[in-house]
Amino acid sequence: PITPEALEAYKKLNVSEVFISIDEAMESMVKQAREEGFKVYACIWAFKALSEAYGVENIYGERKLWMGAGCPNNPILREHCLNRIKKALLSLGVDGVVLDGIRFPSPGSGLSTFLTCFCKHCQEKAEELNCNLAEIKHFLMKLKDSTLFIKASLTYPESLNPLSEWLRFRCYSITEMVKKVKLHLKDVNSEAKLGAAVFTPTLAPLVGQDYTSLASYLDFIQPMIYHKGDGIACINFELAKLVEEYSKSKLEEKRFLMEIYRETGFNGSLNNLIEKGLPIKIVSLEAVKGRKLVGGLKFTPIIFILNEDKVGIEKLKAEALKAELDGLVYFMYFKGLN
Ligand SMILES: [Zn+2]
Repeated sequence: PITPEALEAYKKLNVSEVFISIDEAMESMVKQAREEGFKVYACIWAFKALSEAYGVENIYGERKLWMGAGCPNNPILREHCLNRIKKALLSLGVDGVVLDGIRFPSPGSGLSTFLTCFCKHCQEKAEELNCNLAEIKHFLMKLKDSTLFIKASLTYPESLNPLSEWLRFRCYSITEMVKKVKLHLKDVNSEAKLGAAVFTPTLAPLVGQDYTSLASYLDFIQPMIYHKGDGIACINFELAKLVEEYSKSKLEEKRFLMEIYRETGFNGSLNNLIEKGLPIKIVSLEAVKGRKLVGGLKFTPIIFILNEDKVGIEKLKAEALKAELDGLVYFMYFKGLN
């Protein structure tokens, strides 16, 4: 937020940039923060939608909204996003915008929402890419082994099966939108900067975020590297949801957890994964991985500091700083932070 108390805390903590939701931002706040030397960015929930008519269509033909968002290929939602960016730049006077939710739904939203989207706009987009969406849908309907998702994500953009094709389709759709946003943003204000808050590298291809191709259009990238937590985007939560929804037996559950162990060093039960999260070293491993994918792009991961005490925050910070960063974003301000 931008309040006199928060601005004081930011100064004490050497914070130089403030990210605020476009729905909460007011011109006077932005002006005040900028006068005090901060850069201010408006965060925009990219595919915000109010009606299920704009939702994603799943493998069973049902339409759904995910976290108040709809289909990334819906032209009305895309237009709405561009208009809100224009509004943020012209009437709020921010230094730039950060795209949030610039993706397809994740495993954390549940399989019936994750295994999307097959709407007519997505079908048109798939044709542009020579991608057989009907075959993908068929494959996803029959799929029983959730470890394949992790494999496809880790080996992206290598093509292994229709699952990799699905990720390619998702990534193409999102990168195309980011490119559109970039052109639009520069049209409105050539000085304005474009950033995106994205999923952590290991999970990003699953939601349509290809760091390397996004890097061509972004001025900065903010990977959300949350090793523990019980919400969307937290790595442990997203993986746990995949295990939960696909495991029909304890044996399957164990096999999936072994797969996670190989990648992350996590060694424990499904309950532990949800409650305690992944080992903290995953924060530096993911940050190093992300940096490699984006080259010289301004790279500023987000760490989750709510629910952490001073020692916890310092540990997280030290872990993230093992990678080559251009800065670190704290999610988020709370009373008493300074
Ligand atoms: Zn769609």
